[in-house]
Amino acid sequence: MASASKTTAGNGTKTVTRSVGNGKQATNLPVKIRQTKMLIDGKWVDSQSGKTFETLNPSTGEVIANVAEGDKADVDKAAKAARKAFEKGPWKKMNARERGRILYKLADLVEQNKEELAKLEALDNGKPLSVAMAADLPLVIDCYRYYAGWADKIEGKTIPINGPYHCYTRHEPVGVVGQIIPWNFPLLMQAWKLGPALATGCTVILKPAEQTPLSALRIGELALEAGLPEGVLNIIPGYGETAGAAIAEHYDIDKVAFTGSTEVGKLIMQAAARTNLKRVTLELGGKSPNIVFADSDLDQAIEGSHFALFFNQGQCCCAGSRLFVEQKVHDEFVEKMVKRAKKTKVGDPFDPKTTQGPQVSQEQFDRIMSYIDAGKEGGAKLLTGGSRVGKQGYFVEPTIFGDVKDEMKIACEEIFGPVMSIIPFKDIDEVIERGNRSMYGLAAAVWTRDIGKAHRMAAELKAGTVWVNCYDVFDAAAPFGGFKMSGIGRELGEYALRNYTEIKTVTVAM
Ligand code: NAP
Ligand code: MG
Repeated sequence: MASASKTTAGNGTKTVTRSVGNGKQATNLPVKIRQTKMLIDGKWVDSQSGKTFETLNPSTGEVIANVAEGDKADVDKAAKAARKAFEKGPWKKMNARERGRILYKLADLVEQNKEELAKLEALDNGKPLSVAMAADLPLVIDCYRYYAGWADKIEGKTIPINGPYHCYTRHEPVGVVGQIIPWNFPLLMQAWKLGPALATGCTVILKPAEQTPLSALRIGELALEAGLPEGVLNIIPGYGETAGAAIAEHYDIDKVAFTGSTEVGKLIMQAAARTNLKRVTLELGGKSPNIVFADSDLDQAIEGSHFALFFNQGQCCCAGSRLFVEQKVHDEFVEKMVKRAKKTKVGDPFDPKTTQGPQVSQEQFDRIMSYIDAGKEGGAKLLTGGSRVGKQGYFVEPTIFGDVKDEMKIACEEIFGPVMSIIPFKDIDEVIERGNRSMYGLAAAVWTRDIGKAHRMAAELKAGTVWVNCYDVFDAAAPFGGFKMSGIGRELGEYALRNYTEIKTVTVAM
């Protein structure tokens, strides 16, 4: 069985546990691995150190491929390429509509290669292929298309100031952008980052997560095929504490966008503060309240709450991980919820019947199991699940805890796995206060048939997204991001363009 290795981050602040596979090489792969090098200045190259790292199949712990391991030297080289492409390349000078056309072409190419990309995602991340095909890929294609449409619509204003002056604003690209993304939705997080950055005319250095580099590299190939000029998109696979930290600390990177843990989000911000005050946007963790009132359509609330927590093996930043249920319907709800969870098919991501694949890594698996132990030790009632599934790979049973109290560890900390906490509540005022009692504020949901109550909850909950009688409804046009320690800035929609533009005021004497 795979073991985990421990190292301390370069800056000494985060202890990193690296997953190490079982040393076996995977054979008979369900998809061809076309690219394992890094993309710098339009060329696929090895790392300057010559080092590579293993990317693993989380269903087996076997090695899928060895991928070029970027670090500071490679980030430096990529930053130079991105700077040259930004200042001197055709990207800035070309018509905005032409930039849009290249992004439309990329969306088309992703669509044409949808199945291959979905298979890479299922292989490297462990999500069911059927889910990647039905959810991840359509959202990715839509995101690139949506931002392709924005490329020629990034407009300033004319402003009536006092005096004989003509005053207007230009929304200019912020410049060279570093983007650091996580492993839970590798392709989608890449699209959320690249879409607005490329539409506004920025150039990019992107670091995919160590656990899931393969689909990101394939997108790099498709971007070149779509006609993206050299140096506009550079992709540096590697570790966070080396390649990631080098991006955050680089003096010639103008902005960094990060998605991942709140802990690393703070490191990114500190690095920006220590160096060149690069612009920082962060999309971080959550412990989102999902609130079910007695007057809701209970069956709909059960199905929705199951999805809210168990979707993507529970590895969602916005997972509905504090499930508040009104006392009047609590017992009935719990009984049905447990029945629903037991219908989950845990197994091979390539089996069409599978609804839950493995967790992404040994590290995440261990982390989740330690939270399950904490739940039991803390006095919560284990209603179903709680164990690993099978003998190889990182599979966890869908797990539900009842009688969970607000102050228990499992109700406060992000678990990032298939572990549900059901928490009873009495009335609306109480649940607003308890729902908001968290350092996080990423998402929330309310299930009720009372429209007044729904709108009151939507207004009072401190979260970047509130879903009413639904969960995890995402659209490229709808902004997403966090209040409080869930982040800074918004991705998606028109709002995301602000992250990638500087406003310039021009005043002309008439
Ligand atoms: P993480 O460390 O925050 O990883 C996210 C990304 O940041 C990865 O690309 C990572 O590189 C990189 N990174 C790590 N340390 C860095 C540093 N010092 N400077 C710059 N970049 C750095 O998250 P994780 O360790 O994979 O997961 C831990 C927990 O984070 C999860 O259990 C979950 O609670 C949370 N998480 C949240 C999200 C989200 O969507 N908001 C996504 C993933 C995880 P590596 O590839 O080397 O890790
Ligand atoms: Mg992997």
